[in-house]
Amino acid sequence: MSALNNLDSWRELPAAQQPDWPDPAALERVVAELGSLPPLVFAGECDQLKNELAAVARGEAFVLQGGDCAETFAGATADNVRNKLKTLLQMAIVLTYAGRVPVVKIGRVAGQFAKPRSKSTETREGVTLPAYRGDMVNGFEFTDEARQPDPNRLLKAYHSSAVTLNLARAFAKGGYADLRQVHAWNQDFVAESPAGRRYEQLAREIDQALAFMRACGAEPEEFHTVEFYSSHEALILDYDQALTRIDSRTGLPYDVSAHMVWIGERTRQLDGAHVEFFSRIRNPIGVKLGPTTTPEEAMALIEKLNPDNEAGRLTFITRMGASKIREHLPTLVEKVSASGAQVAWICDPMHGNTFEAAGGYKTRRLDDVLDEVSGFFEVHRALGTHPGGVHIEFTGDDVTECVGGGTEILEDDLALRYETACDPRLNRSQSLDLAFRVAELYRS
Ligand code: PEP
Ligand code: MN
Repeated sequence: MSALNNLDSWRELPAAQQPDWPDPAALERVVAELGSLPPLVFAGECDQLKNELAAVARGEAFVLQGGDCAETFAGATADNVRNKLKTLLQMAIVLTYAGRVPVVKIGRVAGQFAKPRSKSTETREGVTLPAYRGDMVNGFEFTDEARQPDPNRLLKAYHSSAVTLNLARAFAKGGYADLRQVHAWNQDFVAESPAGRRYEQLAREIDQALAFMRACGAEPEEFHTVEFYSSHEALILDYDQALTRIDSRTGLPYDVSAHMVWIGERTRQLDGAHVEFFSRIRNPIGVKLGPTTTPEEAMALIEKLNPDNEAGRLTFITRMGASKIREHLPTLVEKVSASGAQVAWICDPMHGNTFEAAGGYKTRRLDDVLDEVSGFFEVHRALGTHPGGVHIEFTGDDVTECVGGGTEILEDDLALRYETACDPRLNRSQSLDLAFRVAELYRS
């Protein structure tokens, strides 16, 4: 094996946020089994996504990345996957029209089963147990048994990812993604919801554009199918390494558990295991950057993760918070662009805007989310760089986890349908609202 393909190099370094597996031999057996299972994605597809992200870095495309904060095994149902994909496609069509550029559609799906935690334990009514780290590691239920890390869950995560991705691919290619159908769903949203009514004009314009193309006899393949990619935070390195394979075309390693993987804000240490592991795989990758990120850190990440300055390889997903983005983002973007580094910039307007509501629910205000996206556009416009996309936590269902929106959800309503296994997600209507608002920003 060449040094380049040494995928064990991260094991020498501190790896943050890894579970305390109780039985190393059981972990070893699971890792061996994962190593023998088929890839979930093909390396060629990862390269295709990398090319599309290169267009984003050049300012010629926009990314829409989103899904649950934490997927659950129980949530891998047909309804769930369909509703999520439907909402994502509805958002994408609005953004495509407004931005006049292709929208790269990436789900936070089919692998988003592990969560970094700020505390490794959780205490309720005097009882302290290990924190929930995602279905890939332990159970959500607050019992001693559920909270014990179980390596067999890694296998379950693989199989759950496989069924989810299989269904998402079927929806994306099997007629469900038909452009006119997706537009008809948006028309329902505009006609039937208070949030939607503001966007009648934009929906009418899209309708006219589609009618014009139909009259011209335009019936391209792209009207009926979409490219849909999977992504997750590659947190549990034993899992992602077990699913890393040498691509027979190029002899290079790809993490074939997803098309794109990213490093979270809590695991992006330059001398840490995650950055080391990511430097070895050839997928398109992301790194989350919070408000404390210095330009020097950003440059060092670029040097380590994209030494050849390949466009599409590295995406920075900034998550500053609405009150901080206008202050912190400019220096980062300025220094990185001045260096000539090719990166795509995406805005995660969720993770810098979480707070605890009365009643103890973790929530976010839709207005803060929208404000961070506006700040992101303002900063990039002022610097002449490309606001390359948004990364959101959402679901296609009518949950009550974030406050605000056209069908106003108040802090008192949070208990009605608070279903997330981790962070609060935008519901269907709030997500569509966001897409139309981003479309307006694009046009302004
Ligand atoms: C997440 O994406 O769910 C997450 C934990 O984000 P971050 O790493 O930006 O805090
Ligand atoms: Mn989250």
